[in-house]
Order: sequence, then structure tokens, then C-alpha cells
Amino acid sequence: MKILRTIRNYYFYCGIEKEEYNELKKDAYISNYKIWRILHFLMFAVFCLLYVISSSNSVMASNRVFYFIGFLYSFVAICLFFILKQDSLIAQLIIYLSMSFMFLFGALLTLNKPDYTATTFIALLLVAPMFMIDKPFFMTIELCAASAVFLIWMHGVKQPEVWQIDLVNVTSFTVIGCFLNVIANSIRIQEFVLTRKIKKQRDTDEMTGLCNKGSLTRGINAFLEDDSTDKGLLFILDVDRFKSINDLYGHDIGDSVIVQLGSYLGGKFAGSGIIGRFGGDEFIVFVKNTDDEEYARKIAGEVIKEVSESVALPDKDHIVEISIGVAVYHGHEKNYSEIFKRADMALYKAKADPTNRFCVL
Ligand code: GH3
Ligand code: MG
Repeated sequence: MKILRTIRNYYFYCGIEKEEYNELKKDAYISNYKIWRILHFLMFAVFCLLYVISSSNSVMASNRVFYFIGFLYSFVAICLFFILKQDSLIAQLIIYLSMSFMFLFGALLTLNKPDYTATTFIALLLVAPMFMIDKPFFMTIELCAASAVFLIWMHGVKQPEVWQIDLVNVTSFTVIGCFLNVIANSIRIQEFVLTRKIKKQRDTDEMTGLCNKGSLTRGINAFLEDDSTDKGLLFILDVDRFKSINDLYGHDIGDSVIVQLGSYLGGKFAGSGIIGRFGGDEFIVFVKNTDDEEYARKIAGEVIKEVSESVALPDKDHIVEISIGVAVYHGHEKNYSEIFKRADMALYKAKADPTNRFCVL
């Protein structure tokens, strides 16, 4: 059973679990897109050259129309790649189509030489699977279909004994090509897994599992630079007299307050924005797509109340209090540090106000 599952995982999910593969699919698509953008330029240059040479070469002249079609095809593919998103499914389908085009090219080359075996076609069976990261299952379909079409097409065109050699070669190299594709894909997918892990470690605050300072800065800056959106609320939350919690109960309890607060904020703002720990006892929440000050006040009041109820200390009578500074973003600032300064100022005012523990600026 285990061996069957392993084979299935390699054949359908490049050696990892289905859920993990689905998370990485976009990375694979983007990588294919980048490789094939270059390959399409190469195809364009090669077909252009072949078309020019075919005008003075009698052997190549018979394929002249095909070279022209190849040249047009690669031009259209290049243009489409400029329009399409890097992770679009259509781009992936175009890549499979381009591969089919290359196989057609390999077949046409051998068409002129009925006495020779199909070397270019066979070379493509080995090379093409190295340039596509996808479920090996799809590459198997592509290679088998190309080989079947080739053998049927060449039957009767080639000398029978040459066709028989082609049959053996094409069949065995199709199997080798599929096998190589499984190996190449699993190596590349493992690379993506590792890159993701490193990126996650780099972006995550170890104690709370939320975004760390660097990731917060990058995430909020990316949002501000995006011209299609121009509303947001930046909350800075800071525990009041946190030093005294550490002094009174010890650092472990201090840590547990940070963890509890992180977990509360993660739940409260899930799906509405960017949540992270800026450092020490300071947290940041950036709520996207609203600049409603009334809403900011309501949320800040709720959070202060709920934190005092939900974050526990060993002494049940001692409650954890926080102060909140909020900066409302109306689309003017293009840099995180500019709004941060305003939110920090609001926090400073909130700390100084014993009645209202929040301030909106
Ligand atoms: P204020 O009301 O003005 O915010 O006073 P405060 O005592 O909370 O002062 P401040 O926010 O400046 O102090 C943060 C303290 O948090 C300083 C440091 O000893 C402590 N601290 C920073 N990181 C950690 C941590 O990871 N764990 C624990 N237990 N304490 C931390
Ligand atoms: Mg504090």
C-alpha cells in the first residue's frame, strides 16, 4: 500500500503530498513561465534563421512554410506571455502547445530523410521533459501522444526497416523521457519546498507565529505601493507596564502574555489584513480597504476590552492592559514608515491618556 502511495505521489505530485503540492503549484507555474519566456525567444530566433536559410537551401526549402508558421507561432506566444499572468493556466497550456510544436518540428525534419532514423525527434523526447515542472502524469500524456502521432505518421513514409528502428528508439526514449521527467520534477519541487520553508522562517515571529518586523514592513509597503487600493487602518498595540509583568511573574509568564496576545489578535483580525509582532510587547495590525475612523475607534475599544478578559495572568485579579495608536490611511503616504510615525504618535497620546487607552490620528 505504502509503495503504491509513493508511486502515486511521484507520478501525480512530484514526490510530495497532494496538499503540499497544491500550495506549490503556483511557484511551479511561475518557474515554467520564466523558462519558457526565454525559450520562446529562442524558438523565434531559430525559426527566423531557418526561414532565411531555407530561401537559399534546396533541402530546407520544402519546410519553408513550416518555418514561417514556427516563426509566427513563437511571435504570438511571446506576445501572449507579455499579457498573461505568470501563474496563469493558459500560459501553461501554451507551453504544452509549444512543446507539441517542437515535436512536430522534429518529425518534419525526419520527413525529408526516409532512410535515416529520427534523431532530432528522439533528442526532443529527452530534452523537453526537463523544461516543464508539472504533474509527471501530464508530461507522460504529452510524450506518448507525440510519439504515437509520430510513429503512425512515419509508417509508410519511412523505409520499413528504418521505421522499425524508430519504433524501438521512440518507444524506449518515451519511457526514459517520462522517467527523467519524474526525477527532474521531484528535484525541482523539493527545491520549492525548501525555499518556502526558508521564506516562512524568515517572515515568521517565532514566539507568536505571526509576521515579524521585516515581513510586516514588506507586506504593508507592498499594499501601499499597489495603486488599486487606497484605504487602510494601521493599529499599533503595546502592553501597558509590561516590564512590571516580567518583574512580578518572571519572563516565562511575560512570554506567555505575548503568545496569548498574538493568538488573540490572529483570531480577531484573521482574513482582514496583516498581523504581526513588531518586537518586544508591541504588535501591529494593518486592516485593509477601510479608512472609517468610527470603525477604528470601535475596534480599538473592543480589542482593549477583550484583551483584558482573554489574556490571563497567574493572579486572576491582575489584568493585562494595552494601549492602541491608530493611523488612518487615506491613500496619501506611499511608505510604511510615514504612517507608522503617525500611529506611533497616536500610541504615545493613548499612553498619556488614562481614560481612553486608544487614539486615532
Ligand atoms: P509602557 O506601559 O510604557 O509600554 O511600559 P512597558 O513596561 O511595557 O515598557 P516597554 O513597552 O518599553 O517595555 C518592553 C519590555 O518588554 C522591555 C523588555 O524587558 C520586555 N521584553 C521585550 N521582549 C520580550 C520578550 O520576548 N519576552 C519577555 N518576557 N519580555 C520582553
Ligand atoms: Mg509596553
